[in-house]
Amino acid sequence: MSSHHQIPSYLTPHETGPWSVYLEQIDRVTPYLGHLSRWVETLKRPKRILIVDVPIERDDGSISHFEGYRVQHNTSRGPGKGGVRFHQDVTLSEVMALSAWMTIKNSAVNVPYGGAKGGVRVDPKTLSRGELMRMTRRYTSEIGIIIGPDKDIPAPDVNTNEQTMAWMMDTYSMNEGRTATGVVTGKPISLGGSLGRREATGRGVFVVGCEAAAKRGLNIAGSKVAVQGFGNVGGIAARLFSDAGAKIVAVQDHGGTIFHSNGLDAHKLLEHVEINGSVAGFAGAEAVIPSEEFWSVDCDILIPAALEQQITEKNAHKIRAKIILEGANGPTTPEADDILSDKGVLVVPDVIANAGGVTVSYFEWVQDFSSYFWSEDEINQRLTRIMKEAFNSVWHVTEDKKVSLRTAAFIIGCSRVLQAREVRGLYP
Ligand code: GLU
Repeated sequence: MSSHHQIPSYLTPHETGPWSVYLEQIDRVTPYLGHLSRWVETLKRPKRILIVDVPIERDDGSISHFEGYRVQHNTSRGPGKGGVRFHQDVTLSEVMALSAWMTIKNSAVNVPYGGAKGGVRVDPKTLSRGELMRMTRRYTSEIGIIIGPDKDIPAPDVNTNEQTMAWMMDTYSMNEGRTATGVVTGKPISLGGSLGRREATGRGVFVVGCEAAAKRGLNIAGSKVAVQGFGNVGGIAARLFSDAGAKIVAVQDHGGTIFHSNGLDAHKLLEHVEINGSVAGFAGAEAVIPSEEFWSVDCDILIPAALEQQITEKNAHKIRAKIILEGANGPTTPEADDILSDKGVLVVPDVIANAGGVTVSYFEWVQDFSSYFWSEDEINQRLTRIMKEAFNSVWHVTEDKKVSLRTAAFIIGCSRVLQAREVRGLYP
């Protein structure tokens, strides 16, 4: 039996971005998929891609156009699910990769969703609040033809937050003529948002970090942690590690890299970033260090919680951490994975490490549908249980098959998706 697959024309032939990283990860897992590998091509191309023009009227009366995307990578196990990012460097192939990682993540932690992601190629810092609202609303209206509470449910990601979700929910609801709270997650509490959602991704990073540390015999109290990115993921994770007695020795973000051998005060740093937009200028640092030195900082746990492709063959050999927790999506390239594995560094992959966000998004969506809201304790307990179970199932596959945690997570994630694909069968 031979198979012929036409290469999609929208793919660049010598792609080196996140999509090529994702494809390499799929190639690495394929030998472990058994008879399901017959369906693996499904994972190598998104189900549906929508590119939209997002025109807005600026405050000065001029018109600006932005490029927007919504990619539904897979819907075999349920509706599409994944965030929306606003960033000047967003590209279609990046959003494709991010949507594909959502498919694997949602499956790996077993929430009943496929994978999707959206983005607008814009630097939101250059827009006024009014312009940002008009841009968000027009983008939502344009992707309104494919999203919906039982079709595809957006959520926050890089540079989007509760306010963005409120505007998206309102725009979709106005177009539908009914209030549809379940169309997005990560909403404000007053609009059907869930307690614990804002902190969920960082909390999940912390929970799997504790599990990983236990496997390595590392005590969190007194351990040294370095964090790249101090937003909703890195900032919260750092605070939880620091509350558990770890020392946050280095933090890097777009504004600079700060260091303190006895640990930075995570609470004060969160306040500083809230006011100033970056860690730059933080008075409680011992030193400001060159950005490349961040990777060689003496630490036990390293948390990349910013953007993709940060840990590469150029810096992986410098890393001194015993454990890497991928708060970001796609921060490590396959070449870097190989170097880290040779060095014995335990890499907890994004599809497990940062799955706390979408897990509580799932809780939010369930609460919206049932119009019955849970307590924060209940949410955090359920989140902790799911994260621990997901980590330990992956750990089990790692030991059983002698593969990395990433390949193990992909074995679990891809198998569930392809089992659903197979049993549903092709239409027509
Ligand atoms: N943007 C987050 C992620 O990358 C959350 C997505 C969601 O909650 O749907 O996992």
